[in-house]
Amino acid sequence: MSRVWNFSAGPAALPEPVLRQAAEEMLDWHGAGMGVMEMSHRGKEFMSIAEAAEADLRELLAVPSNYRILFMQGGAIAENAIIPMNLLGEKRVADYVVTGSWSQKAQKEARRYCEVNIAASAEANGFRSVPPMAEWKLSADPAYVFTCTNETIGGVEYPFEPDLATIGRGEVPVVADVSSHILSRKVDISRYGLLFGGAQKNIGPAGLTIVIVRDDLLGRSVPDCPTAFDYKTVADNGSMYNTPPTYGIYIAGLVFQWLKRQGGVAAIEAQNIAKAELLYGYLDGSDFYENRIDPACRSRMNVPFFLKDEALNDAFLAESKAAGLVQLKGHKSVGGMRASIYNAMPLAGVQALVDFMRDFAARRA
Ligand code: PMP
Repeated sequence: MSRVWNFSAGPAALPEPVLRQAAEEMLDWHGAGMGVMEMSHRGKEFMSIAEAAEADLRELLAVPSNYRILFMQGGAIAENAIIPMNLLGEKRVADYVVTGSWSQKAQKEARRYCEVNIAASAEANGFRSVPPMAEWKLSADPAYVFTCTNETIGGVEYPFEPDLATIGRGEVPVVADVSSHILSRKVDISRYGLLFGGAQKNIGPAGLTIVIVRDDLLGRSVPDCPTAFDYKTVADNGSMYNTPPTYGIYIAGLVFQWLKRQGGVAAIEAQNIAKAELLYGYLDGSDFYENRIDPACRSRMNVPFFLKDEALNDAFLAESKAAGLVQLKGHKSVGGMRASIYNAMPLAGVQALVDFMRDFAARRA
């Protein structure tokens, strides 16, 4: 067996020890005589798996006790509709901060449910930075302010945690799409009303959606919100109103245990900083490649870069693949290359990429 360095934006590489443990437990989980996929979600074995996963996530992110953790389905794109259906209550307007493709998509979806006010947008500068909070123009009475704190496609990450109290609007809940950087860095959950993300980047298999919601925001759903997507119903039933994505929760639980063994979020954040510094440092020192994002807002997880001579793109992709470095092609809306370096990508993988890039450039000098 030989595994590649996988730079996919998601579904993405998982920690190898997690995959090995899942393989070992595939046919018989802890003597149950069956695998996790075959278990009743209400049986004591799976209940213990789900409870441990939730407790470990709560510990890793220091989720305060007045927040509920929900294991849902539908992915982040479904949440773009589920959020307004749940948080609008009596209000008519929601505010959106647009920093790239994912927040753009979210505000478009929200228009099906409410009026949308664009509180700030980085579109004018080609989504190369995050508008500072002092420039956010909130509407008079928004149900929430939506942010995407790491834009996976553009490679733009908030260099600050949104704190509406600093602009005198602390009463408005902040919603954050954290799909592509959850668990990669410390986060102060108490600054947000709701955080959500699909699992398939930093957590586990596609199909599991994580929602962390402050409990005073439950019970505000619009009347035609599907019951299975009503946060209060999901919370009241311990994420088991409908059958949850059991295998995804199990793998997520193994990833959380792996993260705890690495030393938790603070330790993985230090590694993520080292990885990002290595790759951006190389890009900045090179006259062969470039990254075009404002250095203050560069994502530690998703690193888009361009060859200055774009005619070499196909050769770069073919040769990197032959060297065991895969999924480096940039998103079609951006072009160029993109290396996604989530928690499961070790420093050695980023070093292998930089070594290849240096060699590729040298052979064309
Ligand atoms: N938001 C962000 C930040 C993402 O990276 C993605 C997936 N790439 C999505 C939303 C959409 O997620 P899904 O396809 O799981 O609905």
